[in-house]
This record gives sequence, structure tokens and C-alpha cells, in this order.
Amino acid sequence: MTTRTPDRDTPGPIPPASPDPAALLRNATAETLTRTAGPCSQQIRLRRTRTSINYITGELHRHHEVITARCDTRRAARCPSCSTLYKYDTYNLIAAGLRGGKNTPPAVSTHPRLFVTLTAPSFGPVHLGPAKSGHLRPCHPRRAGHGPDCRTWHRPADPLIGTPLDPDTYDYQGHVLFNATAGRLWSRFTVDLRRHLAEHAGIPRDNLGDHMTVSYAKVAEYQARGVIHYHAIIRLDGPDGPASTPPTPATASVLEDAIRSAAHSAAISTPAAPGIPARTLRFGTQTDIRPLTDTGERALTDTAVARYIAKYATKTTETTGAELPPLTCRTCHATGSITRDHGTGRSTSAFCPDCHGTGRRDTWAALLRPTISEHARRLVETCWHLGGMPHLSALRLRQWAHMLGFRGHVSTRSRTYSTTLTALRQERTAHQAALNAAAFGPDPQQEESESTLVINTWHYLGQHTTDPTARASPPAPTTSGAGVRR
Ligand SMILES: [Zn+2]
Ligand SMILES: [Zn+2]
Ligand SMILES: [Zn+2]
Repeated sequence: MTTRTPDRDTPGPIPPASPDPAALLRNATAETLTRTAGPCSQQIRLRRTRTSINYITGELHRHHEVITARCDTRRAARCPSCSTLYKYDTYNLIAAGLRGGKNTPPAVSTHPRLFVTLTAPSFGPVHLGPAKSGHLRPCHPRRAGHGPDCRTWHRPADPLIGTPLDPDTYDYQGHVLFNATAGRLWSRFTVDLRRHLAEHAGIPRDNLGDHMTVSYAKVAEYQARGVIHYHAIIRLDGPDGPASTPPTPATASVLEDAIRSAAHSAAISTPAAPGIPARTLRFGTQTDIRPLTDTGERALTDTAVARYIAKYATKTTETTGAELPPLTCRTCHATGSITRDHGTGRSTSAFCPDCHGTGRRDTWAALLRPTISEHARRLVETCWHLGGMPHLSALRLRQWAHMLGFRGHVSTRSRTYSTTLTALRQERTAHQAALNAAAFGPDPQQEESESTLVINTWHYLGQHTTDPTARASPPAPTTSGAGVRR
């Protein structure tokens, strides 16, 4: 079951803040969390062969055991349990960058910090859902006489929301090209941001790093129309990162000016292809910037923002009503043909036997599900069409057609923002191991002494899926390593 949310330029209704935000922070490493989240629905099974060699006695012990590991997926639709853990970890990571904690100094709360929303431009009018306040509103009443209009007051779950008023004039190509370049557009934005920041603060560009660091955490959200937009926390630190204070000219207002300039100047060009002109893609003109404070009309609290980003970090296209598996044939990588090597430098190409030359995996049938909108289908088909053009092959539009062209990471942070997800997971594992040791005593299998060398080798056995709608990943190669611990 998918739900749709209306296009939003800023966070819509945010669930009421926890009465004790610190409680959430403590919870995330507590042993109860993994229990609350429940079992992983697509556990990975591994066989561990543990070999220990005693240097002194020459004794050799070998021990086999089957170990199950969490799938650690981000996506709620794949594994609700691991996704819940991911959401908590993301919350902690975001919150740490706003108020300190998890090895991030609390002084970050005094640095200039802004919550920024960068939107996509318009590719044609779409049906509008309720306003941010939750109130219903008429869709496009003033368009009468100027193209198609719609006077409906769309309710929140109306599947029409986000779909074009006139699909035949909607710019599907621009839409998928924007999604396909959105990751690079963000990178360009961060480069431009540093340049504009140097200008606004009156510092030579090359010396900016001697004065300040730009730290950020961002999440990519699909709007109901199926286009990517970004929410980001952007923070200014001193030259040595979170522990150092930014210099006096680096105020929140200088940061805001630089963000507006960079959002305006950042651009990515796509090459021309037969029947398709070269294009320059930019963010939309609506750049929403809000201070992160507890007071003021447009202020947002740290907790509200951390919750918001954590929520969207576990989602992808489901907000657009287009939850799809990868669609390309794995044998021919969507080309439809394979190359047969006949030796002595002679090779011929032939139709791919697995997809009969279509380049499509059998998952393509998912596009016909009644829950998939005509709009989403057209976006996927546009990705497929453009992805088949050699001029646009670098955008890998066929491989990412199920993501409506977007191939970037949904949730990313700059290195200096706060802690890492890996550190948070290790903290939880160590905490759990300490609890186990306290309850059952140390695990003799795990004991490694100065006289013993331990070598663990791992063999992938498969994935146990309890949810029939969840899809298992292809087998990972067997890995081995000395001293690898689980
Ligand atoms: Zn899982
Ligand atoms: Zn409408
Ligand atoms: Zn194929």
C-alpha cells in the first residue's frame, strides 16, 4: 500500500516533538531498540569458519557455525525492522550535528545553521493537494481559457495529486533529465556555495579553508510529481571543523546570502541527442531557508528537523506511488544483445537470450500494477527511451528507470557534519556484546590471546526472506579475512 504526499517546499505537518528528545538519543543505543524494531525480514545467512592456531603449542582448532546478520536496508518497503533502526541512527546522526553528542562538540549548536530546501523547476502544471497547513484548496481554478484547468479540491490521498493537468504537454524529458543530474547539481551547488561564501565574507576563495568549513547533511525527497528535491542542514564551522568556532564575518545571514547565490548559479548541462536539444538544468526559483532556533515564526527546532530528515532517509519513490524493482536485464545490462567470443579475436553479437533482446527484466510487469500511475509509467518509459541513446548513456537512465532517473544517494553528509552510521552501529553491537558478556560470561569462541592467532572465513549461504513482497539481493562473493569479528 502506498501513500502519496502533496508537493511540499518545506516540512509539512511534523509529528509533535518527543517530550524528552534526549530519550530518543539514549534509546537508539539501548538493547531494547533491536527488540522494539523486531526481527529482520530478509536476514542474511553466513557460514563462519573459525580457525585458531596456538603459536606455542601448535594446536589448531577449526569450528563452523551459521550466523545470521541483519540486511541493514534503509528502505521501509524492504525490511521494516532494519529501516526503523536506520531511521533512529539517522535521527541521532542528524541531531548530533545540531546539538552535539556522539563525539561531536555541543558548541555546534552555536554555529550558524540553516535548514534549506532546494526544489526542482516546473515541468508543467500538476494537480495540487492540500496546502501545507492541511487545508483543502482548489487545484488550478484560474487556468480557465489558458489550457487545461481543474477546480477539484483534492483530498490528501487523491491519486491525481502530482500528476500533470495535461500529460501531452508535460516536459517528461526535462523531468527525468533533472532527476538524472540532481546528484551532480547538488555537488555543483556545494562548490558554488564555498565560492559565494568567500565572496560574501570577503575572503580569497583559495583561503576559505583557513577560515571556515561548510558542513552539511542532506536528504533527497521525491515530491508527489516524482521529481527530486533536497532538504539540507547547512552549518558553518571554523577551520578545524565542528570543534572550532567560525570567524566573525561568517554569520547566518552571510551563509543565507551565499546559499541563495549558489542555488541560483548552480547548473548542469546535458548533451544533445537525436531529436533532443542540449539542456541546462538548474534548481527551481523557490529556495526556502529557515533558521534553526526555538523561537520566531518560521523557526524550526532541532528535534523537528532531525525527525523530518530521518523520516525521508528511509523512503524513495513510494511517496510518488511508484514503488518499483530494478527493470534492466542483468545478463545484457539493458542493451538487448550479448557478445559471443569465438576465440582468435573473432566475436559476434547476438540477441540476449534472457530478455529476448528487449533489455528488460521480467520485473517490467510491475509497471502494469494498478497502483502504478500513468504518470509514473510515462516517467519510466521516458527514462528507457532516453537511456537507449548513446549520447545520453552516461546518465545510465535505463539502470535507474525504477528510480525515475535519480541515481544519487538519498541521504548524505559531509565528512565534518557529525558521526557516521557505521560508528553508531558499532556502538550498538558493542553495547549488546557487553550486555551478553554480563549475562552469560565471555564467549570462549571469541577469546583471542597473545599466543593465539584467529582467522575467520565467511561464506554467503543466502537470504531468508519472510516478507514475500521484499526482494532478495543477488549473492555476495565469499569473503575471508584474518581477525574479522562478528
Ligand atoms: Zn532487515
Ligand atoms: Zn486537479
Ligand atoms: Zn538481456
